[in-house]
Amino acid sequence: MSEVKEVKAEEKVKKYKKPSKKKVCAFCVDKTEVIDYKDANKLRKYITEKGKIIPRRQTGTCSTHQRELATAIKRARIMALLPFKGE
Ligand SMILES: [Zn+2]
Repeated sequence: MSEVKEVKAEEKVKKYKKPSKKKVCAFCVDKTEVIDYKDANKLRKYITEKGKIIPRRQTGTCSTHQRELATAIKRARIMALLPFKGE
């Protein structure tokens, strides 16, 4: 029975793949259109300890919101709400 074999092979592939849940953009879920740069607590989730912006593939943020986020983080840095990179 080749069908059974195929199913087993599929299971194997699934097992060896990274157990990564499909991430959904948090801003799309909240239906956020404009990211508030004053919301430092929220922005802090998207930067590393060193103040770097976490890449999209790690946070699951969509490209539109990642761009918004980057702008918001940069603004927040200027307003001294967030640290600059390397600090
Ligand atoms: Zn989004």
